[in-house]
Amino acid sequence: MPELPEVQTVVNHLANKIIGKVFLVAQVKAPKMVSHNFAAQIKNARVSGVSRRGKMIIITLADGRYLLSHLKMTGQMIYLDKLGKASGGGHPITFTGFDVTKPNQFTRIILDFKNGGQLLFHDIRKFGWLKIVNTQQFQQIVSKYGVEPLTQEFSLNKFKEILAKRPKLKIKQFLMEQGLIAGIGNIYADESLFDSSIHPLRPAFKLKDEEIKGLRQSIIKKLRQAIKLGGTSVNTFVSASGERGGFVAKLKVYQRGGQPCLRCHSILSKIKLGGRGTVFCSNCQK
Ligand SMILES: [Zn+2]
Repeated sequence: MPELPEVQTVVNHLANKIIGKVFLVAQVKAPKMVSHNFAAQIKNARVSGVSRRGKMIIITLADGRYLLSHLKMTGQMIYLDKLGKASGGGHPITFTGFDVTKPNQFTRIILDFKNGGQLLFHDIRKFGWLKIVNTQQFQQIVSKYGVEPLTQEFSLNKFKEILAKRPKLKIKQFLMEQGLIAGIGNIYADESLFDSSIHPLRPAFKLKDEEIKGLRQSIIKKLRQAIKLGGTSVNTFVSASGERGGFVAKLKVYQRGGQPCLRCHSILSKIKLGGRGTVFCSNCQK
């Protein structure tokens, strides 16, 4: 699933292309993926902003409503300009003959803009969604998200405060809990824990002050680095132009189970934690 840096990469691509555009016609081929009466509600809405909260894409509409979207496991959001040039991105789809830049059997929703250009939502498994909400519904939805790790709100004190909310939770699972910290998934949880030499199974309350400080710095560092490089693409992300995110070359532990630790050369351990593969170095991470 795309995580904070991948969703931010999609948002950055889309913001350059769709702000100021007006939606015209919506073709919905998978009705369960959109909110009630979607096609009628999106018609004539003007895009005034594109942003992100956690892993959710927020398209602000000029009339005060919001078009929200989540790529979930296999979604891609692609903007095609009049000439068919694509921007955006999401989960890579690798079926033979699949072309992100053309509507195809995995295109579930097509949104046409006035004066040309289209927004395509491709999704193999149809877990992704788009919904239109008013301001009140929007506030309610975003209030369930935890602190954004790349904002000033994510201070050392704030991190300690939220760690105290779920003291017994294993730190890896804690980092992935969207209601506590928003936007971190399997990739950046594993990478941040390795970077700060913390064992993923440690309960939150056992972290010492110095470790909490180090972990916070690692989280911020890894997310920023990944955004700069256009995200990570191991099974989770590809940009519309087919470019793989540059952070894949920076991965130290994610999907490297059984390979040597890049720091101490011990073999990296791989376990299941909360149903998710978790890779760490039992020598470096205590
Ligand atoms: Zn090691």
